[in-house]
Amino acid sequence: MTIADNVVPGPRPTYDCTKCPAYCCSYDRIIVEKEDLKRLAKHHGIDVETARRRFTKVKEGEQVLRHQKDSIYGSICMFLDLKTRGCTIYHARPGVCHEYPDKRRCGYYDFLQWERRHQQDPEFIPLQKG
Ligand code: SF4
Ligand code: SF4
Repeated sequence: MTIADNVVPGPRPTYDCTKCPAYCCSYDRIIVEKEDLKRLAKHHGIDVETARRRFTKVKEGEQVLRHQKDSIYGSICMFLDLKTRGCTIYHARPGVCHEYPDKRRCGYYDFLQWERRHQQDPEFIPLQKG
């Protein structure tokens, strides 16, 4: 799916990205390193400079992924499929997406589950922005 969906060694993660609308992909500072850019360029069959211009922008001195409008979070990574809420470049996603949340728990997922229990609605999505 999204930023996470990673295989974490040891005990199983307590979160399930397939039941989350990809909150972590709404971060506005998904950093793109040189190797990430090369991977993105190769994946799309374009040169690195074109990939840099097309997929990234500079925010506060950092190269980050561009966003698109999103009805849930206001804006979200340009590579998220807005219908399935899954990553469209899963195998070419930046390293930071691959690593997140790098532990068994995801704080947002815990919050989401708490809200869903509280609302007695297993599909409830608290609006965060916009
Ligand atoms: S590249 Fe994929 S996993 Fe990373 S923020 Fe964008 S949609 Fe999410
Ligand atoms: S916010 Fe947490 S549960 Fe949701 S997609 Fe990201 S890592 Fe998965």
